[in-house]
Amino acid sequence: MRPEQYFDQPMLAPTIKDMRRVDYLYASALGFLSKEGKVYGGCRRKEYLRLVGTPESNPPSIEAYRKMLYGDYVGMAEVELAKKARIYVGDEVAVQDDEHKISGRIDLVIIDPQATTDPYIGIEHKSIQGYYSIQKKIQPPPGKAPETDMSHLAQVGFYAYVYRAAIKRWWLRYLARDSGQTAKHEVVLLGDGSLSTNGRLTGRNINDLFAWANSVHAAVATKSIPKQDFSLLLSPEQLKEMADQDELSKTDTEKVRKGHKVIKGDWRCTYCSYVQSCWANEKLPYDLTLQDALVKLGV
Ligand code: SF4
Repeated sequence: MRPEQYFDQPMLAPTIKDMRRVDYLYASALGFLSKEGKVYGGCRRKEYLRLVGTPESNPPSIEAYRKMLYGDYVGMAEVELAKKARIYVGDEVAVQDDEHKISGRIDLVIIDPQATTDPYIGIEHKSIQGYYSIQKKIQPPPGKAPETDMSHLAQVGFYAYVYRAAIKRWWLRYLARDSGQTAKHEVVLLGDGSLSTNGRLTGRNINDLFAWANSVHAAVATKSIPKQDFSLLLSPEQLKEMADQDELSKTDTEKVRKGHKVIKGDWRCTYCSYVQSCWANEKLPYDLTLQDALVKLGV
């Protein structure tokens, strides 16, 4: 082994996070399945493929591992700050739900020294970077509310459900690696199971989270691979729907409205470690081959 490879080796070695139950769903991969059959957050097929032990067709590169590690360190810095501020209660707190077979770890639990009731706060840290992410999650334009990622909401909603008797207050903290800005999204699990962030209803419910989880477990039990919940390449019809719902950038919306070709995929697929095997036998929009699509999407 060359001297510089010693730096890469620990990233590939098992860590405390790898000691989660591998036969359970990961809290960080969860999503919601609405009554209409729409999925928000994580892709069920991806968790299915992991649970049945399918080898990854696109495993993360060493650079991707390093990026994840840097993200972890940003969260760890906040844990150290909580210790210095003397509000630290615990970190990497294990969560295991045997009924729905889901496992995870709460990043940090702190105590609010001024609170007379419900002093504990459970925190999930997510590190982000770049103008668009910061604008969405930390500093939205005037009149716009910060956007909470649905996977992150599912993860914190799940922790809030499991620890509902002990911890009533939950924060999802977005930490910008490049600008140093932070923002907390306060997640509340309401009595009817619905989830709110910063006082606004999200439209998501804890029962939809368990519907998502149960559908993955049912697929594993019957060995029937779930359909793709997201699209590697969006079809003109999907793009039109997104443009109508104001889910595209201004430039893409204009292009779609003028009938121009827009090569765009869902980021979950472009970052997915199963992307090649998942889309190998699928017909893609614009009659693109998988290889051409991946090149155009920068995978
Ligand atoms: S490539 Fe996309 S649809 Fe397929 S498993 Fe990954 S995220 Fe799901």
